[in-house]
Amino acid sequence: MDKTVNPAIERTHHRICPLCEACCGLEVRTHGDRITGIRGAEDDVFSRGYICPKGYALKDLHEDPDRLRTPLVRRNGELQPASWDEAFAEIEQRLLPILAAHGRDAVALSVGNPSAHKMGLLLYFNRLAKALSTKNVYSASTLDQMPKQLSSGLMFGHWLSIPVPDIERSDWLLVIGANPMVSNGSLWTVPDFRGKAKALRARGGKLVVIDPRRTETAAVADEHHFVRPGGDVFLLAAMAHTLFDEGLLRLGRLEPWLEGVDAVQAAVQPFAPERAATRCGVDAATIRRLARELAAAPRAAVYGRLGTCTQSYGSLCSWLVDVLNALTGHLDEPGGAMFAHAAAFAENTAGAPGRGRGVTTGRHRSRVSAAPEVWGELPMTVLAEEIETPGPGQVRALITVASNPVLSAPGGPRIAAALERLDFMVSLDIYLNETTRHADVILPGMSPLEHSHYDVAFPQLSWRNHARFSEPVFDPAPDHVPEWQQLLRIAAIAKGLGAQADVLALDDEFVAADVRKIAGEHAHLVMQAVSGLRGPERLLELALRAGPHGDRFGMKPGGLTLAKVRAAPGGIDLGELAPRVPEMLRTPSGKVELAPALLVADLPRALQDLDTPAPALVVIGRRDVRSNNSWMHNLPVLAKGPERCTALMHPADANAAGLADVAVAQLSGPGGSVHVTVECSDTLMPGVVSLPHGWGHGQPGTRMTVAAARPGASLNALLDDAVRDPLSGNAVLAGQAVVARPLAV
Ligand code: SF4
Repeated sequence: MDKTVNPAIERTHHRICPLCEACCGLEVRTHGDRITGIRGAEDDVFSRGYICPKGYALKDLHEDPDRLRTPLVRRNGELQPASWDEAFAEIEQRLLPILAAHGRDAVALSVGNPSAHKMGLLLYFNRLAKALSTKNVYSASTLDQMPKQLSSGLMFGHWLSIPVPDIERSDWLLVIGANPMVSNGSLWTVPDFRGKAKALRARGGKLVVIDPRRTETAAVADEHHFVRPGGDVFLLAAMAHTLFDEGLLRLGRLEPWLEGVDAVQAAVQPFAPERAATRCGVDAATIRRLARELAAAPRAAVYGRLGTCTQSYGSLCSWLVDVLNALTGHLDEPGGAMFAHAAAFAENTAGAPGRGRGVTTGRHRSRVSAAPEVWGELPMTVLAEEIETPGPGQVRALITVASNPVLSAPGGPRIAAALERLDFMVSLDIYLNETTRHADVILPGMSPLEHSHYDVAFPQLSWRNHARFSEPVFDPAPDHVPEWQQLLRIAAIAKGLGAQADVLALDDEFVAADVRKIAGEHAHLVMQAVSGLRGPERLLELALRAGPHGDRFGMKPGGLTLAKVRAAPGGIDLGELAPRVPEMLRTPSGKVELAPALLVADLPRALQDLDTPAPALVVIGRRDVRSNNSWMHNLPVLAKGPERCTALMHPADANAAGLADVAVAQLSGPGGSVHVTVECSDTLMPGVVSLPHGWGHGQPGTRMTVAAARPGASLNALLDDAVRDPLSGNAVLAGQAVVARPLAV
């Protein structure tokens, strides 16, 4: 043992990993203020000891010298360290005149993916949004997942009522446009997918992958088929067509709850596999066989993810995935696509069971392109034009929360230029990165190890029901304003209460109003029951106790409370997924809406596109196990090793373009050009080039030293930001035409 280490301060902490959607339970060992080891927590009821290479990088993230620890305020054009009071005073001084002169919509909000892993940010972002009441709310959802949220909302009544494969009991799993071997699930929280896929195959099950790249998941599958980027909708519609055409429907237990089977039949009738095959790149015989296998399998599920969302038919694809599950009797059945039963925060466990208001879109539209609002948001890809275009409602100020659209959204360089035109910009972030370098004030986030945590969203998407809570591993610096209080303080400024407002009193006020709505005349008793807590933990206590597994504030003795979850560092297992229809439905009809009018009406758009020839070369993204979006490239343990931001091309395409292996190419798309190293690989479908996203570091004024040393090229700099899924507003990241040529030409 290291003689300098005092054994008295050796400690082991359980921590939910905040680095991706898998949410593994980690064991973090510390000696004093040093991290001495990180491993998967064997006693974690959900992830059971699993850890991926990113999990170890939590140490690098916590210790990263580039991570901001002090507020920065722009003075004389330079971002300079400032006190918290100075930073909030600057926000008040600059924000209020903009609100007063131009109204609430002149201030935009943008929230990024890391906020989903911080309970304080996720729960209090909504407080800020409400205080601002701006229509200009943007998030990473419209970059990769809004189509699934929309189709689920329309079918089941809430945006997060998303069915996930019950993989441990499934015998046949079709994965489309997803790479869970690398991601461990997305909109499906499934740590150790590798182990679960292996077990599926070991019990005689079958894994089929459809993807334009022979991915890491395809490599362990029984079958892989290339699909043309953007062609998934034709494949899925043709599979649905086959079910009707060949009499393979098996509606099962859900039959009384399925509304619109006939409308689906009529809608997919034109998509015979023999017509769809050329456009999707999967031959008709294979399409028909896959439909038959899906229908015949006793326990099966179809799972589609990023590739099916990031295209102009994203909503249609997301819908058809669950149409296939429903038509074959695999929706809401063990081994099929099932709904989690989250212990807290799930709208499909709140209110009266079985019926609800459902979801609507288009309650307002973006000013310039008239893109419809979806779940309170406008597409991230209209943010630049909303800043650039003069007129009433022009965005003049922006508040970003863990959001880096300059690298993560199509048209990144255009967004960067637009940010320079803002009158004022505030960022809550842990880095001085490609987006926050444009800010006037940066409020530093905390290390994920410095605050408590409960996953608000992911238990709603999990492969197994559970409740887990993480205590802080380290104390934050004494003066570091917690992130939830940073958001509340800006909310107080927006409400005209001033930068010095008592945010704890404001928190009390917000919570009391929430509780009054839910508990009515019993509100004071509920408030009393949670009186020892503040901030996110109080909201969690309320949600857990009022939730489906909760103690109902004493009415259900033995039910969950925060204290009970806290007392179980490895979490509380709440069992395997169980059938939930009709109880979980929140549609106005009280049925599963299999043929929502909005989606059915969009299918003719795809039909018109059925005979469109594919461009010679199109681009798709790529996920690497050592990366997740743009914010992990500064962590040495993940950055080392071979260059990861390379363009993968089929050898035939590379040869045709005059590109030898490991040559540097100029890749040009509708949005611009980048220079990138090309790697020839027959894992790519001919006609497709793959470039991972989230790169393009090293820009002037950033402070991410490790990332700047290997900056990579930005996929988003290639893309046309005007191309979207018209229903969900999701960006099209896959399938845009590009040209590759040797750099010297
Ligand atoms: S898969 Fe890796 S990054 Fe994701 S939660 Fe687990 S350990 Fe963390």
